Amino acid sequence: MVAKLKPDLFAFVAGMAVERGDPIPITCNCGGVITIMPPLQEVLVVCARCESCIKLLVLEGDPGYVMGSDPNGEPRLIPVQGSSREKLDISDEQRAKALEDVRKRFKDSKKGSTGGVNE
Ligand SMILES: [Zn+2]
Repeated sequence: MVAKLKPDLFAFVAGMAVERGDPIPITCNCGGVITIMPPLQEVLVVCARCESCIKLLVLEGDPGYVMGSDPNGEPRLIPVQGSSREKLDISDEQRAKALEDVRKRFKDSKKGSTGGVNE
């Protein structure tokens, strides 16, 4: 019995790429690349370089990027691995605009909350 693996990292994968059935290169935070073959047998892969355990989260379609935040709470765009080149190839302008939109949304969702951080 193998010890249960706990993911160290998460990677987003485009559902479209999984359906197409082509090998999908997953880039780890360390720069190592793990190639996965659909259909996905497992959702946990291990980076051969840094031994991080990466959990794959398959998103429907071809999303390009998803919004996330870094540890400081600053919004950032996370590329969805396996997305089409057109979706991933956005200009700095588009990227800045997308981030601006997220920032606005973050602010709006904070407005109207009555605090309660210490609950
Ligand atoms: Zn790695």
